[in-house]
Amino acid sequence: MKSITTKPIDWDGIKRELSGIEIITDPVQVAKLSLDYYHFSPILQTKLKHKKGDLVVRPIDETEVIKIAQKCVKYKVPLTVRGAGTGNYGQCIPLHGGVILDTTRMNKIPSIKPGVAIVEPGVKMAAFEKISTDIGWELRMVPSTYRTATIGGFIGGGSAGLGSINYGQLRDRGNLHAVRVVTLEDEPRVLELRGDEVQKVNHAYGTNGIITELEIPLSPLYPWAEIIVVFDDFTSAAKFGQALSDSDGLMKKLVSIHAAPIPSYFTALSSYIPKGKHCALVMLAEFCLEPFQDLVGEYNGQITYHKTTEEGNKGTNIAEFTWNHTTLHARSVDPNITYLQTFFFTLDLVEQMYAHFGDEVMMHLEFLRVGGKAIPAGLQLVRYTTEERLNEIIRYHEERGAFIANPHTYILEDGGRKTIEPEQLQFKKMVDPYGLMNPGKMRAWMEK
Ligand SMILES: Cc1cc2nc3c(=O)[nH]c(=O)nc-3n(C[C@H](O)[C@H](O)[C@H](O)COP(=O)(O)OP(=O)(O)OC[C@H]3O[C@@H](n4cnc5c(N)ncnc54)[C@H](O)[C@@H]3O)c2cc1C
Repeated sequence: MKSITTKPIDWDGIKRELSGIEIITDPVQVAKLSLDYYHFSPILQTKLKHKKGDLVVRPIDETEVIKIAQKCVKYKVPLTVRGAGTGNYGQCIPLHGGVILDTTRMNKIPSIKPGVAIVEPGVKMAAFEKISTDIGWELRMVPSTYRTATIGGFIGGGSAGLGSINYGQLRDRGNLHAVRVVTLEDEPRVLELRGDEVQKVNHAYGTNGIITELEIPLSPLYPWAEIIVVFDDFTSAAKFGQALSDSDGLMKKLVSIHAAPIPSYFTALSSYIPKGKHCALVMLAEFCLEPFQDLVGEYNGQITYHKTTEEGNKGTNIAEFTWNHTTLHARSVDPNITYLQTFFFTLDLVEQMYAHFGDEVMMHLEFLRVGGKAIPAGLQLVRYTTEERLNEIIRYHEERGAFIANPHTYILEDGGRKTIEPEQLQFKKMVDPYGLMNPGKMRAWMEK
């Protein structure tokens, strides 16, 4: 392995060689574009708040990306790619300074056809769907940040979201068809990865090449209605969530369950969720409403809000209270709240944890498909006290069979993946021989 040089970096030379490409050097702007939503974690807050890059470049196409890659290799400067910077674990925060490559001007959509589209990485998901829905298609899954987040950033750092109840996670075969990546070799190349090969860069935090184009599968668009159902007890709400997720005859996009007192953090929804109630936030095909009402009745729920498809963008958007937006709302009321990401696999385990932790770990579930089965994944809200206690809570879950994708670390392997596929490490050796891409994030590389 070759290493990053310790010689002082000739920033003036780099800027000169990058002339023609938009460069941001204003320190306030650079500092802002160095960070993401790492502050959801009190542990990352202290570790990352002072990290920043030296300059930001904003290429408009692949040719400019290649030029930036060449200069970073020539000067042995770290390069960190950034989409909209909405990641939660400091994925796009440069630990060792260097160049930040902001993709948001690479926002062209070369092709959208029924079932598949080709996009540049900086395309924002909501902007994409404004166009794709005109021909009756939408993205298979989106994070709750879909209005601002980029497609490249979702692939680089995201995992699942609205739509995952039907299509699983981003890493599942078929959810990403192909990518083009620019390497950081002495002579940067453009590689096209198709099929299973895409896993070499999927969810790699931008450590394995710069994605310049993606081919993504789409989902047929249904007339989604937004619905809130309230329940007197959490068990009924959770069982309702599982039953709805398992109901193959009911088309849905979102099954999000919140134990009291979480709904009390949803100020804009307060008139629909009486104090002390537990709730389900659901996106359901409008034409499934009648059988859905029967299911609600079976679990003693009560529908308190129904926004029809025609009402579209009017009023409140319930998606922005689900997934990690739940944490955002809770933290805006109580900044001491943080969160966990947990695969429970069964409702029994959910119930056990709910009973054990009470108000310290407030239960928030998102249902998604894993290996063909609908399972509850927790994005529980935690009343944070100390790092030791947080680790104790994590351990308690793990010892009882839950899988925690720890959101309090910026290391790839210590978060969701736990291990790096050998092929990802092999690929990094080839495409980033100097270890310049987002250095400090891939443990396997550092240990090597
Ligand atoms: C309130 C809130 C709610 C959220 N909800 C969800 C959710 O429902 N589901 C979910 O999965 N995530 C969620 N997230 C996390 C994040 O918003 C999403 O993962 C989002 O898709 C990231 O997109 P971005 O453009 O902001 O990426 P960034 O944060 O800018 O980047 C993410 C990672 O991808 C890498 N990257 C970006 N572009 C490229 C590229 N072109 N080539 C190579 N690497 C690249 C970056 O280096 C970084 O490591 C949430 C975050 C917040 C703050």
